[in-house]
Amino acid sequence: MNLQSPISAGGRIFKLYAGRLEKLGIFTLEDMLLHLPTRYEDYSVVSKIGEVQAGETVTVQGKVIEAKNQYLRSARIKTIQKVIISDDTGNIELIWFNQPFLIKSILVGSVISASGRIDKSPRTKSIKAPAFEILQQSQNQSIHTGRLIPVYPETKGITSKWLRRQIYNLLEQYLDELVEYLPEELINENDFMQYSRAIKEIHFPKDMDTANRAKNRLAFDELLLLQLAANKRRTAWKSKKITKSFKVQENEEEIDKLIESLPFRLTSSQLVAITELKNDLSSQTSMNRLLQGDVGSGKTIVAAVAMYITFLNGYQSVLMAPTEILATQHFKTISSFLSKFGVKTSLITRSNKLETENFDILIGTHAVLSEKINFSNLGFIAIDEQQRFGVAQRGTIRQKSENAHLLTMTATPIPRTVALTMYGDLDLSYLKEMPKGRIRIKTWLVPPEKRNAAYEWIRKKIIDTDSQVFIVCPFIEESESLQTIKAAKNEYERLTRDIFPDLKIGLLHGKLKAAEKNKVLNQFRKGEFDILVATPVVEVGIDIPNATIMMIEASERFGLSQLHQMRGRVGRGEKESYCLLFTDNDYAQNSRRLKGMETLYSGAELAELDLKLRGSGNMYGTSQHGLPNLKAANFSDTQLLQKAKKEAEKLFPELNNYPKLLEKINEITIEAVSPD
Ligand code: ADP
Ligand code: MG
Repeated sequence: MNLQSPISAGGRIFKLYAGRLEKLGIFTLEDMLLHLPTRYEDYSVVSKIGEVQAGETVTVQGKVIEAKNQYLRSARIKTIQKVIISDDTGNIELIWFNQPFLIKSILVGSVISASGRIDKSPRTKSIKAPAFEILQQSQNQSIHTGRLIPVYPETKGITSKWLRRQIYNLLEQYLDELVEYLPEELINENDFMQYSRAIKEIHFPKDMDTANRAKNRLAFDELLLLQLAANKRRTAWKSKKITKSFKVQENEEEIDKLIESLPFRLTSSQLVAITELKNDLSSQTSMNRLLQGDVGSGKTIVAAVAMYITFLNGYQSVLMAPTEILATQHFKTISSFLSKFGVKTSLITRSNKLETENFDILIGTHAVLSEKINFSNLGFIAIDEQQRFGVAQRGTIRQKSENAHLLTMTATPIPRTVALTMYGDLDLSYLKEMPKGRIRIKTWLVPPEKRNAAYEWIRKKIIDTDSQVFIVCPFIEESESLQTIKAAKNEYERLTRDIFPDLKIGLLHGKLKAAEKNKVLNQFRKGEFDILVATPVVEVGIDIPNATIMMIEASERFGLSQLHQMRGRVGRGEKESYCLLFTDNDYAQNSRRLKGMETLYSGAELAELDLKLRGSGNMYGTSQHGLPNLKAANFSDTQLLQKAKKEAEKLFPELNNYPKLLEKINEITIEAVSPD
């Protein structure tokens, strides 16, 4: 057994808890060592019992002189556990509630260490519910008390206390396996801690200063490895032999005809992006480009132009979208633009089977990945809302054609600093401009006391101006969980019964079958509902021009970029549009961040603000963003990012000189746009 062994191989208890540990992202023993504390409790000073004062938080150590259960006739507190410990300066009582089993393990005569707050009303000195551990004779190092105590991300059934013990044991056993992989000079020049020491100190630091140094080393490693991995992918991509270079110059006239035929004039950002795409398509290496742009900035048509060029050169294209709704929408738009030029477009989703493989463009959900589909001649791949797909799915579509051009699209704005580290291997295009004539969506953060007034205002808007309203319910867990759906159902019932009994309300959530979902959406589109209550699924892609009010519950749970994307669901027609943000309970605490929505209207600016106010940990905490969860590093630490970039450049081409480092780089599977 070694650190790479799966967690279940680590012993009976690990096997039993494997499922829970996976929830924390712990799959191997090494992952467990890399499960880093979020903070520390300072129990570092061991106090003499005689000297402690009421109200202080302390650690005391002493011999158990009495340990007993006391039984009460109370509904809530059935038993009290009382343990008295003593050192050479005095006695103190440790008290727990309803944990009678404790008394079995705390034996009179043993020595225990306990940390907590000294009670304020002392006849006798006592600590309620202290953290404690029984010190073995041989063990002079305490784990849970008498030091800086690591506090970890927990999940149901896995406590910090348990993790602390297991990690401590693993470190005892495997510390030697944590070999240094950074070059010696780099470590010396930057005065970094050695790798194994950093891992040890981040869990059980001597003092805060050491903890910070350990964290700094590990944060640097993370950023360096990401950077090196991106450099490596870039080189690999560029070295591929490419045959599909298109003769774009010969197509110019036809491209212009397409652009002229559109029902709108392209923005200059769109034109720039199209030029960039044309260059890629005609070059000797295949395109590997990320097209970023706010919701509504018009990314689809940019991709459609590239697909048309692909068609003109005799190749097929495929466009993969994350939801059936979105795929269907793309199919309608793209075929309306291209069919008059003889381009055959097909749609494949779960409810729409493919009838013929005689297509030029195939649009669909991940159904496009099906083995049954034979592309005769795939030249261009576009992935919409790429962050919604897993690495595996993106990999599979790549395999459909090794050297097809690849365009990924996202509305998630990624701050520049982050993009340079994460996406160092990609070329970036950014649509910074919105099509003309888009109206600003008036946005308000509504204080809790104005909720009823807001409902009245909404009712009036619906009745007077025939508007339609989205009400988005809180997002409870990362993916659309049953809990989230339940919240939406409850809200739907509450609104129907208590708030808007006179209005027509629909309900939309991710667990509805595609056909039902479409039905609800069509009803809403036709005006059969005034209000659509929805889970955050509305974030992507739904286009209903008559919907002019977006109301979002518990908005503090969303990142600003997500809020911005949801806001983009309204303001699609001519009418004045509004976005109302409600909070659950932390109004004051979140108002500064959320108020940003009232004045900022660009996704990129909102992303920067979120990064500043919440840090990247939160911003990219959910996998929806498609960025890896950093453990030690933070994307807002520009200084360390710079350092990592500089060192990566020094190391890069000669990676073979550092086999251990290379091994680490290869372990990285980037959850971002990693095409291979
Ligand atoms: P997104 O970038 O969010 O994917 P879409 O490509 O779906 O945006 O475009 C949003 C809407 O704007 C669509 O109805 C599209 O036809 C329209 N659109 C795209 N470009 C322009 C433009 N230059 N002027 C006006 N409308 C445009
Ligand atoms: Mg789009």
